Amino acid sequence: MSLGMLRLFSVFIFGVTVLFGQHLDFTLIKKGDPNSKNVLLVVGGIQGDEPGGFMAASLFSTHYKITKGAVWIVPNFNFYSIIKRNRGPFGDLNRKFVKLKTNDPDYNLIERMKKIIENKKITMVVNLHDGSGFYRTRYIDKLHQPRKWGQASIIDQDNLKNIKYGNLKKISDEVVAHVNKHLIKKEHKFRTKNTKTHIKKTFEEKEMSKTLTFYAINQGKAAFGNESSKSLPVNERVYYKLLSLEKFMDIMGIKYKRKFPLNPLVVKDIIDNDIFISFNDKKIFIPLSGVRKHIRYFPLEKGAKFTFKPSSPVMTVLQKRGRYIVYYGNRKLTTLVPEYLKYDKAINSVKVNIDGKVKNIKFGTLNSVKNYFNVKADKRYRVNVIGYINRKHKNEVGLNIRKKQIIRRYSIDKYGKRYRVEVYDAKQKNKFLGMFLIEFNPKKKKAYSIVALDNFLKNK
Ligand SMILES: [Zn+2]
Repeated sequence: MSLGMLRLFSVFIFGVTVLFGQHLDFTLIKKGDPNSKNVLLVVGGIQGDEPGGFMAASLFSTHYKITKGAVWIVPNFNFYSIIKRNRGPFGDLNRKFVKLKTNDPDYNLIERMKKIIENKKITMVVNLHDGSGFYRTRYIDKLHQPRKWGQASIIDQDNLKNIKYGNLKKISDEVVAHVNKHLIKKEHKFRTKNTKTHIKKTFEEKEMSKTLTFYAINQGKAAFGNESSKSLPVNERVYYKLLSLEKFMDIMGIKYKRKFPLNPLVVKDIIDNDIFISFNDKKIFIPLSGVRKHIRYFPLEKGAKFTFKPSSPVMTVLQKRGRYIVYYGNRKLTTLVPEYLKYDKAINSVKVNIDGKVKNIKFGTLNSVKNYFNVKADKRYRVNVIGYINRKHKNEVGLNIRKKQIIRRYSIDKYGKRYRVEVYDAKQKNKFLGMFLIEFNPKKKKAYSIVALDNFLKNK
């Protein structure tokens, strides 16, 4: 579909949701041993208004390494509902794992998920949710009672005969016991909730027979729902989900390396700050931590396909009315206002003197500066430091540039630390060659804050 073809409404084509003329499909991420026949399937984002579920699945996919066995992750199953921040624009996906009419807008999505679940390698399925209140076996008050779902591990029945991990109740209780050893508050205590779906007597039990987990157990797979409470902030919901997933992996003998210390504050730091995006074959790189609401004069290639690479599977870019909006789960992070230019691939780096040391700086990188920097490029390149005002020069090659010489509101971040340095070909009608960023006096980064960045750059 051409870039100029804007749709201000969403339509549905062949089972893939199209928003503003762009496709939004789910991702299947396979980690660990490709030959393993002991695969845990983790599903997030079945309902777009449950960020604990899809943020946990996303973080699990980017910040864990699987060293034995395998994990498959679908972090953004209903990506359209995530962007829309609602339960399901075409109805609740978790009530559609029954015989579905082929003209149902979600038909293909459901069929493809069924195929994944049916895969012989998968032995356990965990569906991540956020539930209201706090599940309790007896009524305590409106928020803490048997009809609530929050802080519970959900099973459809106690046991499944003749299948691997069929002792659902026992496994669920082990997960619950593990989580309860690491509670932030006593109120957050987890419990196993058995919906007794196969008996199908009450309305609730009938509803549960249409769910992903019930479909999975009917395919002979151990399956669990995992609900963190909507009363908790998202980072705490994610923390509990990661604790649960680690225990499920332990039970299955899946080994992993977690690249950060597991506590709610570190989880919050990763969700908010360990996020990046690059554009057009890494010519442009933008850290999204504290990014401004708008980035203007964003140099996009005239007449070419717009491409991007996000650091998280729940991140995407959608075009709307000629602008590009970067979404991250339910959040709109920033809007890019493009300026269309010709691109040239002549060089991919320039020499820059940073605080007295000359370095070769690649386009699409973030570079720390203490006092000043000076781009040592040949005069045939035009350097434009966005926000730097100098009436004598049209070209900022060879100038010592300090933070106080740049207008703060031109920074890409809200803290006035990160600035764009753009390099053009001065002779060929100012063709765009690339951009790098400088950051004045960055905070000392903790190891876990740069995990995504490391992975991100490795895939270059
Ligand atoms: Zn849910």
